[in-house]
Amino acid sequence: MPPPSEPSGDDLPAIRTPPPGPRSRDALARLAALENPAFARRREARSEATGGEDMSPIVLARGRGANVWDADDNRFVDLAAGFGSILLGHGAPSVERAVSAQLGGLVQGLGDLYASEPKVALLERLVRLHPGVSPRVILASTGADAVTAALKTACLATGRPGILAFEGAYHGLGYAPLAACGYRASYRAPFADQLNPHVQFAPYPRSPAELDRSLARVEVALARGDVGAVLVEPILGRGGCVAPPAGFLAALLERAHARGALLVVDEIWTGLGRTGEMIRSAREVTADILVLGKGLGGGLPISACIAPEAIARAWAREDEVVHTSTHAGWPLAAAAANATLDTIRSEKLEARAAEVGARFATTLRETLAGAPGLVEVRGWGLLVGVELRDGALGLRALRGWLERGYLATTAGRGHEILVATPPLTIAETQLDAAAAALREVLLAPHGR
Ligand code: PLP
Repeated sequence: MPPPSEPSGDDLPAIRTPPPGPRSRDALARLAALENPAFARRREARSEATGGEDMSPIVLARGRGANVWDADDNRFVDLAAGFGSILLGHGAPSVERAVSAQLGGLVQGLGDLYASEPKVALLERLVRLHPGVSPRVILASTGADAVTAALKTACLATGRPGILAFEGAYHGLGYAPLAACGYRASYRAPFADQLNPHVQFAPYPRSPAELDRSLARVEVALARGDVGAVLVEPILGRGGCVAPPAGFLAALLERAHARGALLVVDEIWTGLGRTGEMIRSAREVTADILVLGKGLGGGLPISACIAPEAIARAWAREDEVVHTSTHAGWPLAAAAANATLDTIRSEKLEARAAEVGARFATTLRETLAGAPGLVEVRGWGLLVGVELRDGALGLRALRGWLERGYLATTAGRGHEILVATPPLTIAETQLDAAAAALREVLLAPHGR
């Protein structure tokens, strides 16, 4: 038991100063003059869409478990958890211990030149997540970089430059994944001349009725003969929290292999227990190349591209070809990742996410039944989406939820889906209270 003065992380919100409080306001004013204007422009656009709401009214100061505090000491329940990356909660004891010990030992190694112990230990854990023969790993820091490593691997292994990606898909914004970003054309457009020109898109099937049309487009794209990688999210995340119909991934794998392409499965959001399974796609397929990121480092940046030896050996050429970076295999993040993976296993957090997440989705469905503007609640483990009538309502509801002490994010092109990706350790009392608060939000005039 923590001493009484130490917060448990299981608490309900305590809003002392309605956001934005004076400290947050001060920091935000300083930020506005410093940050690239893209972010201010985005905030303005979101504000305009809601008729003038201030859409980023807090600055975060500290976190514990599923609670975060803003600069004005307001306590929130964190349903966003670093875009899903804080799998064990803020300040998770196992991660803190591992990182402190590593900090006192070795902070930085020499990447792929002279490895560190925690890096070796991490690779031993990661290969167990890929059921293929003798899997090999490339480590990176961001999701986008691990997707880049995967696309390079597929290109080397197949000799083909082409990528088949999906409408609505999000794989990060570095140049390689950006070319395959089906989420927002505006992210790609200004850079179109610098992007891989061999990318095709097929519709992501959102229902059994859409499966045939999607697969027909997949077949047409593959028939062109230049596709080396079929890049897919097992659940469309930012694109709208949509699970494809059963059989989609298996059909993709079969069609990809029939045409000499590899299936690259991006489990950056869905993997490591988030959706109630360690690897979401494993229920249906063995990915040729598996990509992990986000929660892997327990909040520290680290990501991985994992492929069986038969595919990975395409890198071992006569002339040196590698994918690496200064912080690849960073000992601090590798130590955090080892602690994260061990804790998920020892605490059976993927099973907890499945159970608690299913109850949360049911509670949301019951609590929100009949609320104005509600379209649907969808959930897989602790990746839960609440689809609302439109983006304006989505953003206003996000703001209203925040005012009541619940931090979430949105998905869908127009922000029409509220997304909860809390720590896998979140208390059920916090989830029940979040559902009740969202009902209040949707019943309030103007949805906040
Ligand atoms: N792939 C998926 C499915 C994601 O959801 C994200 C980020 O949200 C990425 C890749 C990119 O990861 P990062 O932001 O770490 O580059």
